[in-house]
Amino acid sequence: MTLGKQFDVIVVGGGHAGTEAAAAAARCGAATLLLTHRVETIGEMSCNPSIGGIGKGHLVREVDALDGVMGRAADLAGIHFKLLNRSKGPAVRGLRAQADRKLYRHAVQDILAATENLTIFADAVDDFEFAADGRVAAVLTASGQRYVCGAIVLTTGTFLRGVIHVGHSTQPAGRVGEAPSIKLAETLGRLALPLGRLKTGTPPRLARNSIDWEGLDADPGDAAPEPFSFMTNRITTPQIECRITGTTPATHALIRENLHLSAVYGGAISGRGPRYCPSIEDKVVRFADRTRHQIFLEPEGLDDPTVYPNGISTSLPADVQAQLVRTIPGLEHAVILRPGYAVEYDFVDPRALRPTLELRAVGGLFLAGQINGTTGYEEAAGQGVLAGINAAAVAGRRMPTVLDRASSYIGVMMDDLTRTGVTEPYRMFTSRAEFRLTLRADNADLRLTPFGLAQGCVGSARAAKYGVYAADLAAAFDVARSDIKSSAELARAGIVVKADGQRRSLLALRPTDHPPGALELAFPWLATLVPQVRAQLEVEALYNGYLGRQDAEARQMRATEAVTLPEDLDYATIDGLSAEAREKLGAARPRSLGALGRLPGVTPPTVMAIIGHLRRAQA
Ligand code: FAD
Repeated sequence: MTLGKQFDVIVVGGGHAGTEAAAAAARCGAATLLLTHRVETIGEMSCNPSIGGIGKGHLVREVDALDGVMGRAADLAGIHFKLLNRSKGPAVRGLRAQADRKLYRHAVQDILAATENLTIFADAVDDFEFAADGRVAAVLTASGQRYVCGAIVLTTGTFLRGVIHVGHSTQPAGRVGEAPSIKLAETLGRLALPLGRLKTGTPPRLARNSIDWEGLDADPGDAAPEPFSFMTNRITTPQIECRITGTTPATHALIRENLHLSAVYGGAISGRGPRYCPSIEDKVVRFADRTRHQIFLEPEGLDDPTVYPNGISTSLPADVQAQLVRTIPGLEHAVILRPGYAVEYDFVDPRALRPTLELRAVGGLFLAGQINGTTGYEEAAGQGVLAGINAAAVAGRRMPTVLDRASSYIGVMMDDLTRTGVTEPYRMFTSRAEFRLTLRADNADLRLTPFGLAQGCVGSARAAKYGVYAADLAAAFDVARSDIKSSAELARAGIVVKADGQRRSLLALRPTDHPPGALELAFPWLATLVPQVRAQLEVEALYNGYLGRQDAEARQMRATEAVTLPEDLDYATIDGLSAEAREKLGAARPRSLGALGRLPGVTPPTVMAIIGHLRRAQA
């Protein structure tokens, strides 16, 4: 047997989860190897050329706060930035950037190339080797290499036994033009991991010069694009305009006539698809009374001849797709460069994972990204960065770490996935977070960069910039708290408050309640603050009153999270539990009292029975 080259962490797959995992492990100081099918597809966007959105934009900021790749790459590649939900509160605004596909890939590849401790090889991983204690010990590749390691992060996306469907024709593939991972799926099968089947789809791509752009509504980006990354001062990539069109009654009639030919509706696919990213067939069936579905025509790059018609993902046969696009205004003469398709793939039930992303059954084996039943680049990146940090910890014989629901959207996602599993591809929304007033995109750095510094995954440039920002902000809060004004003083600046004898600081005044310029008049030091610091003070003032309540709720939640449950707790022997509760808890194996209480269907008497059992065991 050959000894094999040795690494601390091996990451399998160079998609959005894999790149973040590899970069994070390497930033933590672990000697890291990224093995992926093709180096040139690292950072490939399999579907829509865009990063961020509502909820997803929060994840990008959180990945960035941990010094991750995605935000910086999106800033370099973004050609159409838009802050969604601008008219709503800061907690639910979502930054989205349409990216130049090629620039994005290059930006990710350049960032990885500049990352110390990281080696990248093109090879397919087929199998693993295990130590006598069952922990992962090495990977075996298709080219016959053996690499020894302390931990593995598996991020194979839609490639595990992937099958592509266009109408009723099928082809084994991870995504178009790329072979699936069959041997690795067999390896996971041998490990007896709980596997399921999911599907997702993508629209046809259109030739840019075959579209009649005249007369279509414009969709301009923001005039002053806001960057994703704390490290980006300004967006310098040229910005473009997109156009909007929509389906017609003729489109819908054609789809209805051909539904039996669709892979999704003709019965060829059994896996569940993303409810919130439906195919055009789904939309026409589910919203039968609608006569138009909006389509955004998004160029895939500054000089790319391809256009992504956002909104018509389909698995109809190619000839029907050609007829379909021609029923759409502006696309009457459109040429399809590549038909849309659906892909069906294996995923691992994420309830088999600890919230650290390590498999409970296989020490040192971490899973991240679409393999865990999620959909989306941002969800993959969020898991990737955490898996990378924890794989580096485990390989270095340190304790892995958990992000909880009160800390981040990454924490919400980890708790949702590992506690309740998935019945359809999991996508992030702000509505999933109960602490969303505190989990804002604008304070992701304040929430997570200190955690990242403690884990060793934040580089010196960000650490220095963050240090200055945090000190400036702390100083500004000190000034804000100490500068308190009477109602008469505020009135002189044009700020009307109740004359109740109370003196008020800036933090007690909702910025939106007062005339423009009034706050600067009352608190002249405001004008001296850097915009980012000032914006933080204003958001805190806006949510003042609510934030204290959320903090109290978060403390309460953390107290129940701190009560950990033994992994080998025998629910069958606990008095006072119903047979159903015993079965459910035995299968879910929640790691804490908090996680147990959040399981669907768990009742207060069940929680009390567990508390009673734990107390008796300690007595
Ligand atoms: P991927 O980005 O798929 O990367 C997996 C990587 O693993 C690839 O680089 C592959 O080469 C590598 N790999 C696989 N097996 C091996 C092996 N054995 N050895 C070495 N390397 C290996 N998301 C949305 O949010 N909305 C959508 O509408 C949407 N539509 C999609 C449509 C299609 C057709 C596809 C394919 C994906 C779609 N997605 C969509 C999902 C989105 O692309 C993924 O969620 C995201 O890319 C997942 O990132 P990942 O890192 O988990 O996997």
